[in-house]
Amino acid sequence: RELVSPDAAGDEVQIEAALRPKRLDEFIGQSRVREQLSLVLESALRRRRPPDHVLMSGSPGLGKTTLAMIIAAELNAPLRITSGPALERAGDLAAILSTLSEGEVLFIDEIHRMARPAEEMLYLAMEDFRVDIVVGKGPGATAIPLDIAPFTLVGATTRAGLLPAPLRDRFGFTAHMDFYEPAELEQVLYRSSRLLGVELPPDGAHEIARRSRGTPRIANRLLRRVRDFADVRADGVIDRDIAAAALNLYEVDAEGLDRLDRAVLGVLLKKFGGGPVGLSTLAVAVGEEPETVEVVAEPFLVRQGLLARTPRGRVATAAAWTHLGLTPPPDAFG
Ligand code: ATP
Repeated sequence: RELVSPDAAGDEVQIEAALRPKRLDEFIGQSRVREQLSLVLESALRRRRPPDHVLMSGSPGLGKTTLAMIIAAELNAPLRITSGPALERAGDLAAILSTLSEGEVLFIDEIHRMARPAEEMLYLAMEDFRVDIVVGKGPGATAIPLDIAPFTLVGATTRAGLLPAPLRDRFGFTAHMDFYEPAELEQVLYRSSRLLGVELPPDGAHEIARRSRGTPRIANRLLRRVRDFADVRADGVIDRDIAAAALNLYEVDAEGLDRLDRAVLGVLLKKFGGGPVGLSTLAVAVGEEPETVEVVAEPFLVRQGLLARTPRGRVATAAAWTHLGLTPPPDAFG
């Protein structure tokens, strides 16, 4: 019955991998990106040349890693995976670049966090399929040019704006990944429930989808938590009431806000009267790193119309006060 045993050593990472779509036509949503990408890939296949380098930007969990794997699969090419923080020295990157095979896809996750010297080496590699290996130190140092196999770089970043322009400009195609619509997340949930052997009626799927923060990874995770609840506290069928009760228990509210989202809004409203307040002040007040608040919580709050980023700082909207059931100060909205 089940492709993935629900308690396969409790390994959620394994489950997540099993739920990944393998080909472009299994990839749900992001229709514009999918169409753009399929043109890029199709024409490369016809020309029998590696496609242009691809940059993907978007919030965590929207499917960037999945798409990188799909690109390699569609090209029938091998895939090498690394990440910006793993490339501390130029030598780390040189070791990878010099061993790529022709047409290989190199995926660099969190590419905005790559160290500077590695980044500069990447410019030349992307443009000329060449690296300069520096031998020796100081005035006697020489650069030995080394040809590398033509490859396709797929970079992923949570914010394209964080990338230095010279790097950004070397990508032939940028895929902007947006949050998913609830209807698309329902499709993700149906697909996952089939693979997991979980019974998911439409009203249950609808309830989970609208609380999934527009993010397939979260949808899949909530599905597993709701399934636990349905198995233990009910007959295993996930209807609307079961889904809602389970998600309330896991502190996911009716709009999909989780603890961090509500902490950010709560502090912004109760401590700073709705703002404006700077990112780092806000982050200290919720006890998180500024990057976590900025990358994980804010994009969804902005998209839900609960928070605005202004030049003077973060500001809560009228909807934020309503959502938390609080009354704004009389002068709050002019
Ligand atoms: P991060 O940047 O944090 O690595 P990501 O954007 O790369 O996140 P993925 O790891 O690719 O996200 O996707 C997370 C999970 O969501 C995957 O396990 C996959 O099952 C599911 N998923 C993502 N996109 C889709 C989609 N379009 N259709 C179906 N499932 C998807």
